[in-house]
Amino acid sequence: MAGRIDGKALAAQVKERVRIEAAKLPRRPGLAVILVGEDPASQVYVNGKERDCAACGIESMTHRLPVSTSQKELLALVEALNGDPSVDGILCQLPLPEPLDAGEVLNAIAPDKDVDCFHPVNVGLLAIGTPAFLPCTPAGIMEMLRAYEIPAAGKRCVVLGRSNIVGKPMAMLLTQADGTVTVCHSRTENLADMTRQADILVSAIGRTRFITADMVKEGAVVIDVAMNRDENGKLCGDVDFAAVEPKASWITPVPGGVGPMTRAMLMENLLTAARRHQNR
Ligand code: NAP
Repeated sequence: MAGRIDGKALAAQVKERVRIEAAKLPRRPGLAVILVGEDPASQVYVNGKERDCAACGIESMTHRLPVSTSQKELLALVEALNGDPSVDGILCQLPLPEPLDAGEVLNAIAPDKDVDCFHPVNVGLLAIGTPAFLPCTPAGIMEMLRAYEIPAAGKRCVVLGRSNIVGKPMAMLLTQADGTVTVCHSRTENLADMTRQADILVSAIGRTRFITADMVKEGAVVIDVAMNRDENGKLCGDVDFAAVEPKASWITPVPGGVGPMTRAMLMENLLTAARRHQNR
């Protein structure tokens, strides 16, 4: 039976560490969040970030903009926040309503305030192994592996999903940790043959109960990134948890696994940005 990786407890530790370190800075770190429109899921995420900031002693400034906001207005706000010395990190909650161009907005955020690590400069620095920031979800997963003393070095790691936010940077971090990494996606043939080889399996697809027990090697570490809703509207991941848990050595639950760690790593990135801005 697998041990459960407690992302919630670990995230609380990370946030407490951030709170202690942030309190040592001469100026309170500041996070500016841009939220356009009324998307209910986005509202929930932004509320969560505000709570995390409060818990860590970080100033959060949420800019709630109407759905009618133009691209020009949005870019002007980003420009103003780039130049605001009380702002250490800027994030724009995605998805943006049509017809706003998220790529252009993300690229306009100053790289030193890009605490989501989405800017091409920061993605490039990550790719060559000299990151300025670590992308929150993959960094949270690496932190979980470290905390539970699960080495990636020499292990066969299989990442399901190749998005810019999760799959690709996850593969980079596992490679940099000396894992041997295979990235799978919707065009992968014989997917179960790939997943069955994984010592560490990271699933970031977004399909409820997609990963069944027969797709998992005995003793594998199973990390479930997804946040799906099942037929009863309950939050769940990609992994058929009840069936896979007896076979794995370690497993992350949903909720209470990767999600809280993603949020905690955002706070850590903010601390990093604030320290740099205050030369600490
Ligand atoms: P995404 O951009 O939609 O990417 C999904 C990836 O899964 C794509 O690469 C896609 O392949 C692949 N895929 C889809 N169906 C597949 C299949 N049947 N077999 C193999 N691969 C398949 O999603 P994302 O932003 O990476 O997020 C993935 C999941 O993680 C979502 O459930 C999201 O809600 C969750 N998430 C959670 C956190 C957290 O903090 N816990 C953070 C971010 C995301 P193609 O590239 O070929 O289309």
